[in-house]
Amino acid sequence: MSLEIFKLDSRVALVTGGNRGLGFVMAQALAEAGADVVVTSRHRENAESSAAAIAQATGRRALGITVDVTDAKQVNAMVQTIVETFGRIDILVNNAGINIRKPIEEFDEASWDQVQTTNLKAPFLCCQAVGRQMKEQRSGRIVNIASMLGLTALPERSAYCSSKAGLIQLTKVLALEWAAYNITVNALCPGPFATDLNIPVMNDPQANQYFLNHIPLGRWGQPEELKGVITFLASDASSFMTGASLAFDGGWTAE
Ligand code: NDP
Repeated sequence: MSLEIFKLDSRVALVTGGNRGLGFVMAQALAEAGADVVVTSRHRENAESSAAAIAQATGRRALGITVDVTDAKQVNAMVQTIVETFGRIDILVNNAGINIRKPIEEFDEASWDQVQTTNLKAPFLCCQAVGRQMKEQRSGRIVNIASMLGLTALPERSAYCSSKAGLIQLTKVLALEWAAYNITVNALCPGPFATDLNIPVMNDPQANQYFLNHIPLGRWGQPEELKGVITFLASDASSFMTGASLAFDGGWTAE
C-alpha cells in the first residue's frame, strides 16, 4: 500500500490549543505530513512562538491565532481569519481542553461550567463555524480529542468524564449530519499522557501508581506517540471511517 494516502500536502489544518501539550505535537505531525497549520492559544506570545517553531521545523506555513475557543464571536473571527489567509480549512482538531478534579460534593458550579464550556461547548462552536466552510468545500476531516475518560470513569472527574462522553456523542451526530458532504467526524480517545494537564496526578505518588497499575503497557504515553494516529485520522487513510471513537490508551479501557 502506498504511503501517499497519509500525505497532507496542500491541506490546511486548525488545531485548537495547538501551542503546547498534545495539541502542539499533533499540529507538528500534520505539518510534517505536508499541511499548513493554524495553532491557537489564549496568549498571543504562545500562539505566535509555537507557530514559528512549527514553521521552522517543517518548512510549512504556520499561523498562531489568539483565541478563547469558548467565545462564539472569537471562534467565528478565527475561522474568518483562516479562510482569508489560506483560502480553506481541510482539517479541524478540537484539542483545547481542561480538567478540574474534585469530589462531587465539593464541585462548585463555576468549575463545572468551565469544564463543560471548554470541553464540550467549544468543540460545538468550532465544528459549527468550520463545518460551514467544509460544507462549501464538500470535504473535511474533524477530529475531536475526547479521552478514555469519555469511555470509562474515574472518581472526582464528574465534569471531565461527562464532558468527554458528550463530545463522543456530538462526534456521532455530526458524522451523520455531514456524511453527505464528505466530512468525516471522529473522536480520538487518548489515555494518560505526560502533559501539564496531568501534573497533579504525576506529582502525587499514590495517584501516579494507581494510573500505572491500570495501564497494561505499564507506562505513561509520550505525546509524540500520537503523531501517527492523528495523521491517519486527518488524511485519506481514514476515508471510510466516521462517527468512530478510537481509544489510544495503552490498553486501559480494554480491562
Ligand atoms: P494541556 O493542559 O497541556 O494543554 C491544554 C491546551 O488547551 C492549551 O493549549 C490551552 O491553551 C488550551 N485551552 C484550554 N482552554 C482554552 C480556551 N478556553 N480557549 C483556547 N484554548 C484553550 O493539555 P493536554 O495537551 O494534555 O490535552 C489536550 C487535549 O487532550 C485536551 O482536550 C485533553 O482533555 C485531552 N486529553 C489529554 C490527555 C492527557 O493525558 N494529557 C488524555 C486524554 C485526553 P492556552 O492555555 O495556551 O490558552
